Amino acid sequence: MILENDVIPILKELIKFRTVNPPGKTIEAIKYVAKMFENLDIKCKIQEYIEGHANLIAEYGEGAESVILCGHMDVVPAGDESKWSYPPFSGEEHGGKIYGRGSTDMKGAIASFIAVIKYLKQQNVKLNGKIKLLITSDEEIGMEGAKVSLKAGEMENCNFILIGEPTELKIAKAQKGVLWIKIKITGESAHGSTPHLGVNSIEAATELIPKMKETVPDLNHHLLGKSTLNIGQIKGGTAPNVVPEYCEFTLDYRIIPNVNRETIKESIKNIINDFNENNKSQAEMEIMHNTPSIDMTQESRFLDLLKRRAEKDNYGSIFGVTFGTDGAILVPENNTAFAIFGPGRLDKLHVTDEYTLKEEVVLYSNIILDTILKHDK
Ligand SMILES: [Zn+2]
Repeated sequence: MILENDVIPILKELIKFRTVNPPGKTIEAIKYVAKMFENLDIKCKIQEYIEGHANLIAEYGEGAESVILCGHMDVVPAGDESKWSYPPFSGEEHGGKIYGRGSTDMKGAIASFIAVIKYLKQQNVKLNGKIKLLITSDEEIGMEGAKVSLKAGEMENCNFILIGEPTELKIAKAQKGVLWIKIKITGESAHGSTPHLGVNSIEAATELIPKMKETVPDLNHHLLGKSTLNIGQIKGGTAPNVVPEYCEFTLDYRIIPNVNRETIKESIKNIINDFNENNKSQAEMEIMHNTPSIDMTQESRFLDLLKRRAEKDNYGSIFGVTFGTDGAILVPENNTAFAIFGPGRLDKLHVTDEYTLKEEVVLYSNIILDTILKHDK
């Protein structure tokens, strides 16, 4: 059994490393973890793919097949630190809660994974398969760390990947895809008093926006509901008395697994072509970000055992997540079985006074440990 003292001190230490992204330097925290493993003679390597940005891969056990425990070390900025009740990089504990940026997203899960591997080693547990810890970087921006580890072959022979993003100990078996597109419109400037001499790009945008809203397919997924579109930014114009020559806006689609992202791109292209043929303003699209959805539909013994173990403590209900995780990069290549399952409240992601419940992190560690031990029998 993993005790509070085996995992909470690690979490507090991890929070103290300012692995804020941007700039996303995680190397010091990664080295801290590597040192722990080296001291215990646990196989471990560091992939530093950009100066200061690194992944860590640790392994315990023998055999070709592996179960991967995955978490990201980078965290989002703390914002105005004076607004925090406790300093965001101190890892302070108050009333059973560990405060700090990353306590929920997602150093709690990472601390648990480390504690699990340390336990296996210290108890000299014999495993038939491998347990692999994959700590990535740059998850919050671009998922570069996951891409590097995929390229390095870390997903080969993996028969299950557990992504420890916070889910309140519910089990997510599906995740929406993300598609960000920028629409850029060029018109022609003129003096504001003679608008008929120019071509107004902002007016063009107001014409295009309602059409874009019609591109969201009206399909439902049993865990994720419908796809969504948010128009999150619009920029254009230079002064009240100038006909705006340029305007741009962004589309943020969150797409369910049964919707083809290509279809959405096609519809946008058609709208733009149609618009360009009939208007003096000209629009074009730019793909800013494009990651697939993932959907766990196959059978998995590890997942069954995980669910059963979590249910013992009245957790483990099945749902889907709307936010992105490293799973979008790591899962599709071999259609690897996965679950997103971690400690931490969903409303404590990226907020001021982020905290995680100490008890939940300890329980999570034991759920993972017990599942691994059962799985290996
Ligand atoms: Zn996260």
